[in-house]
Amino acid sequence: MCVPGCHAAVHNQLNRRGLFKAGAAALAAGSLATAASRAEARGVRVFNRVVDLTHTLTPDFPTYIPDWALSIEQLTTFAENGFNTRRYSMVEHCGTHIDAPIHFAAEGATADEIPLADLVLPLAVIDVRAKAAENADYQLSPDDLKEYEAKYGEIPEGACIAMNSGWAAKAPGDGFANRDDEGVMHFPGFHVEAADMLMSERGALGIASDTLSLDHGASSTFDTHYAWLPSGRWGVECIAGLDDCPATGATVVVAAPKIGAGTGGNSRVMALI
Ligand SMILES: [Zn+2]
Repeated sequence: MCVPGCHAAVHNQLNRRGLFKAGAAALAAGSLATAASRAEARGVRVFNRVVDLTHTLTPDFPTYIPDWALSIEQLTTFAENGFNTRRYSMVEHCGTHIDAPIHFAAEGATADEIPLADLVLPLAVIDVRAKAAENADYQLSPDDLKEYEAKYGEIPEGACIAMNSGWAAKAPGDGFANRDDEGVMHFPGFHVEAADMLMSERGALGIASDTLSLDHGASSTFDTHYAWLPSGRWGVECIAGLDDCPATGATVVVAAPKIGAGTGGNSRVMALI
């Protein structure tokens, strides 16, 4: 039996679709609370809300190389053809997107080959907004990771670590790529020493940057890309919505495109909280 209020409370803990069947079964058994704990025991993560970590992609969204942007063509219209269809064209690394290992390696997994289980991970959000506001070339460092762990505990194995530099709010304006007069971009990224620590000491599987690159914008050597991706790990660039995520406790879902042999691709990224 449920005490008064129990159904509402437990309903809020169950996601409406994923656990619908579990919820229905539990109702039949007379206890949703039992179903929720059973689901957790089976490893199903219970969550209350979903946060969109994806920028809406439009043709004016900045890209690392300016002519990599999205273009759209209207193929049919409802008025003329009875149905609407568009064709779009873009480079794989456009908008909120995944970098597959093959992007910076002679051999490695393509986007379609990344195991689904590696795309649903615990999410650690590292807040470097204050430092990035002072220094557009800021690189997230091992000290930032240690500072995070002193507050929130050790980053769990198999996690995705996201950098919140505050840059998502600048898109799609010019401040997002932040090109100077010479065309050099200035935005934050992961320092290669932080990437090394996450690989060798924390067993991380993904990193996500809220800027146009895993490396800081002024980099010409792409040290973090060359250290991280060839190790078989993935990255997400142009992640959004991190202000609405807790520092710890969320699960990130990266819905990478399953286009054969992709080096990456525009992805719907979300956090289950
Ligand atoms: Zn990319």
